[in-house]
Amino acid sequence: MALSISQRALTRSFLAGGLVGAFAGFLFAWESLYRNPGIASFGDRFLTILFFAILFGLAGGLIGFAADLLTTPFARTRAVAPITAAASFALAEGLARSYSVHQWYKDTWPSLTLTPGTSFRNFCIVVLICLVIGALAGAFVSWLLPRLRGAGAVALAFALGLPSAWLIVNRTETFQPPRYEASMKDDREGRLFLFVIDGADWDFLMPLIESGRVPNLASLYTSGVSGELGISYPCISPYLWTSLATGLDDDQHGLCEFFAYRPPFTNALITRYPGLGTGKRFLFQKFVPKLARLGIGSAVHASRAQKRVPELWDYTSAAGIPAAVVGWRFSYPAPAIEGAFVTDRFQETVLPQPAVYPAELRETLRIDYSNEGARRARPILGERLASMTTEELGPNAEKVEKLSYHLERDFRYTAATRDLVEAYDPRLVVAGLTAVDACEHQFILEHVLGREDDRPALSAYHARFTDEQTIDDLAGTIDDVYAITDSLVGSILASRTSSDIVMVVSDHGHDLDGSGHRFGPGGIIMMAGAGIHPAGRLEGARVYDVLPTALYALGLPVPHGLAGKVLIDAFEEKTLADHPISLVFPSEGELQEVRTLDALPELGEQDLEELKALGYVD
Ligand SMILES: [Zn+2]
Repeated sequence: MALSISQRALTRSFLAGGLVGAFAGFLFAWESLYRNPGIASFGDRFLTILFFAILFGLAGGLIGFAADLLTTPFARTRAVAPITAAASFALAEGLARSYSVHQWYKDTWPSLTLTPGTSFRNFCIVVLICLVIGALAGAFVSWLLPRLRGAGAVALAFALGLPSAWLIVNRTETFQPPRYEASMKDDREGRLFLFVIDGADWDFLMPLIESGRVPNLASLYTSGVSGELGISYPCISPYLWTSLATGLDDDQHGLCEFFAYRPPFTNALITRYPGLGTGKRFLFQKFVPKLARLGIGSAVHASRAQKRVPELWDYTSAAGIPAAVVGWRFSYPAPAIEGAFVTDRFQETVLPQPAVYPAELRETLRIDYSNEGARRARPILGERLASMTTEELGPNAEKVEKLSYHLERDFRYTAATRDLVEAYDPRLVVAGLTAVDACEHQFILEHVLGREDDRPALSAYHARFTDEQTIDDLAGTIDDVYAITDSLVGSILASRTSSDIVMVVSDHGHDLDGSGHRFGPGGIIMMAGAGIHPAGRLEGARVYDVLPTALYALGLPVPHGLAGKVLIDAFEEKTLADHPISLVFPSEGELQEVRTLDALPELGEQDLEELKALGYVD
């Protein structure tokens, strides 16, 4: 067989693969960075994008080269460019999503963070979809380079696109919830207070606990168990809050984006495939709402409508346990529960569905409209900023406004929680607070730069976002908001008795490097009160564990089939002995089974394997 490939053809394949690879690298790095105008300098950003463009470009080029060598003897039509382009794009995406690449990069270049790994299944789907995108890109390259025809690529795109689309639309792994009943309760009568402080992170909180600025959280910390709360990706609130409330991941609970899109196919693509990182946010979050404005499709706030499984208060309601739930994110429209529910959209005036349950709460709830948050926001900004008008504040006006809004929100919801505790005598009290996260996003630069003992001169890059004076004014803002949040938690806990349990968690932490929380870190968890170990570390807790642990703390059996488990280490031996953990299995027909952990041997093998994986049985 004579080697009949010309040098030019090989160069062309290299270029075709390389072009697409470079483009993929550029998209990857750019998408990973543009959302976080934090600590990384402009130079670092530029170099990162360049680095990935070259890396992926080289990979794409080499694949193109190799594929050309391998396929030319057999190829009648030259569909090589599309295939190589597809392969290079898929490889680039695969690498980009691999956790080890992310970790390696983070270790090597600590001032930056990149998209982390995703589940293997998501990875496979991502590669498939990227193949399609790559094939289309390849077709375009073929069209650009004459003599390479794109017909093969189009055929390939269809061949791969159909199964991909089928996989996306038909992803139907759903959790079958058991039916809860009042008879399932054990004899414990204490209440459970569950606080979610969005974005609370040990790196910020620990120094405040040590310095005595957050006395309420400090007393929980010293009298109970605590640890890091493991998160999952995407590290964003809609997904994580819903995992906290359901004990399940997005495959099953259905909500993992801030918006829900129409037509449904785009919705499925975005909300169910968070791993589809490259360019996704740009394409969809910018593009789909634009289409929506033109009347093609729509983008609405994510809400309870996207959730496919029961949440904590659905279980307690079914078991006849009254609850007061206030400010839970993405909970609108208000669910009809045993007790009362104030959703996170309560403050909005015009909503098509009720934002509170029962509906008359709207009139009777003495919500604090005193603008306490706004009044408290100004002083904590330091005297200089507090005395300025909006015009004088200039670029800082937006920060101040956001801070006021979230403080306002937290003050109101805290007041509402106190009222509901009085009016409904709930056994489950849930309060969601958001000022900490909002503040971490707004003031991280000043927090970090203002903290350095030997403060270097402000770099030209950072000078675009802040100035020396602002750093002096705002360096303590995040600490102040933690302290206010602590006082709000304390005000709700004023009615706490010795038979109650308190649980404080966050949906995720916050990176001190200014990259926000796109890539973690994990959140916090603290538990204290009746039957909880008086001191200790809680290792390996994850967001999924909060629901089962809360149900157990309330004396209820735990649904079988959750992603999480009861945090056994949090409870004292005596509690576990007096109140054995039990599981409840989904009802088949009329049959519904509640079994304690020592009565499991006759379970099927698959169920036993699941329970072993969760650590319930040895
Ligand atoms: Zn956030």
